[in-house]
Amino acid sequence: MRNITLFMVSMILASAGCLDSLKEDLISCDNRVGDCRYEILQNGKYSKLHIEISYVSDNEPSSEALDLLRQRINEVTDKTSVTISQNSFGSTDDSYSLEEIIEIENLQRERYKSGDEFVIYILYLNGEFEDNDKTLGLAYKGSSFVMFQEKIEDAAFLLISAQDIEKAVLVHEYGHLLGLVNNGYTSPHDHEDPDHPNHSNNEESVMYWAIESQDLYNQLDGEPPNNFDSYDLDDLNLMRQGKL
Ligand SMILES: [Zn+2]
Repeated sequence: MRNITLFMVSMILASAGCLDSLKEDLISCDNRVGDCRYEILQNGKYSKLHIEISYVSDNEPSSEALDLLRQRINEVTDKTSVTISQNSFGSTDDSYSLEEIIEIENLQRERYKSGDEFVIYILYLNGEFEDNDKTLGLAYKGSSFVMFQEKIEDAAFLLISAQDIEKAVLVHEYGHLLGLVNNGYTSPHDHEDPDHPNHSNNEESVMYWAIESQDLYNQLDGEPPNNFDSYDLDDLNLMRQGKL
């Protein structure tokens, strides 16, 4: 009888532990793209933002593109500081599945949100995305996105430099982490492209779908936009104020 009681107690303790970790998984915004929008936009819980970047050797981000991302972050959030760290790693692969991308993040990422600091993780890869070789960038978790730097270089054309494209893709993927467009909230403005969910119907917005695709040269007349349009900014402002 005593043995059975002990067994039952340990069963209950074990399942309580399981429930706790399950609850942690369910409430963590990291699991789904767009779910960390309040953590990133608002100041209450996390007043500082850190951007951790891992890049495959020879595929480092351009400092001008990172400066622009920092500027865009400062324009739409109230963070008291935005810091950036970078480290490189080697890779023999040149085609990455989503599972592999998540595996690389698990191996390379060093910082997660803690205390008053939220952390966004950006992975710069060589090669291509296995599921769609036109992909230039992809937001895949609540606080993480990937940039395909060789694909961005390949996408440069005429007067549009790889750096112009990199700037647009960086801000676009950051916008997805903020929930743009209509990912987890409903905008008061009619600006979601019905043919490309969670993207803007305005080709002058950085959230236009073609920004993250190698098709962009077919879709855009000139330099790709690297800023949010007035509807995007209004959505972000309302979310920052807790009104949306
Ligand atoms: Zn997109």
